[in-house]
Amino acid sequence: MSLEEIIRREIAQSGPISVARYMELCLAHPEHGYYTTRDPFGRSGDFTTAPEISQMFGEMIGVWVASVWQSMGCAPFRLIELGPGRGTLMADVRRVLSQAGVTPETWLVELSPVLRTEQARRVPDARWAEDLSTIPAGPSIVVANEFFDALPVRQYVMAPDGAREVLVGIADEGALTFGLAPRTTETAPDVDWDEQSPAGRAVARQIAERLNASVGGALIIDYGFTVADRPSGPTLQAVRGHQKVGPLETPGRADLTTLVDFDRLAGDLAPLQSWAAEQGEFLVRLGIGMRAEVLAKQDPTQTECIASALERLTMPDAMGRLFKVLATMSPGLPTPPGFGELHDA
Ligand code: SAH
Repeated sequence: MSLEEIIRREIAQSGPISVARYMELCLAHPEHGYYTTRDPFGRSGDFTTAPEISQMFGEMIGVWVASVWQSMGCAPFRLIELGPGRGTLMADVRRVLSQAGVTPETWLVELSPVLRTEQARRVPDARWAEDLSTIPAGPSIVVANEFFDALPVRQYVMAPDGAREVLVGIADEGALTFGLAPRTTETAPDVDWDEQSPAGRAVARQIAERLNASVGGALIIDYGFTVADRPSGPTLQAVRGHQKVGPLETPGRADLTTLVDFDRLAGDLAPLQSWAAEQGEFLVRLGIGMRAEVLAKQDPTQTECIASALERLTMPDAMGRLFKVLATMSPGLPTPPGFGELHDA
């Protein structure tokens, strides 16, 4: 049975499903899920992420991790990545750390067997976990790039009589379709639209508990918004072969994401303090410009390629502004690097 048939059968049996349930089936179904069945990255894949654009991205994260580790008193720690994709980011981070003589116990939280195999090729000494709560407590540094945007959301829109949840059902002519729940709901706040991720909130709380109980920091990088650039409507989108497609068109064969609400994320991490920046300014403060110069000097044939990667990662009209960075730290640790006074949230 195809994933679309599985979804139709579930709707036929128990009625329209939430957007979160639809996303969960599409992305993580054990047999047919998008992430469970493929490696979606790169030019011939569906989309490209920052660590796949250039090693400079992971190297800057490595510099960040090394600096936080120093602020933790250079104690042994667990390095944890949520949703590591191909393992490229972690390989770049580990290379920077090993140059500083640091080899942390490394844990990867990944649901996809296909991607775990890719990760094992690049980070051979890693250990894997299904979720953060099963990783032993203790000093830790957590990194997540484009992880929260892949977690299922429940979607709400304001109707004339109140907020209603958006559901996925079957139209008269048989196609999957979005519709509104027959009754209004109290669970959505009083705004014109909302996307809430129970899974995202749970992970944020696990991070906060871990950092509260011991010492460490977390760095979350994603596609998202704050109150200053909140989009005018819901943000669920599907991408396949580097093109936007309808989210209901090819269940399990397109990537589904939403923009991460960084203000809510900071709220879910409270009472831990958090710091926010745009990806571009964050990478520039960590020294990506200087790193680009060094790499170009080492191999002048790569100069153009390095310059274009630098632009993609940092310029406001590329990934520099739409991608946001949020750091949170155990109580008592100093402001982490990359977050200047002027741009703090
Ligand atoms: N961080 C990588 C990959 C981003 S894609 C990069 O920047 O290239 C999202 C990643 O999260 C994939 O590895 C996917 O398999 C994983 N993922 C998605 N949902 C997950 C979940 N609920 N639990 C664990 N991993 C998940």
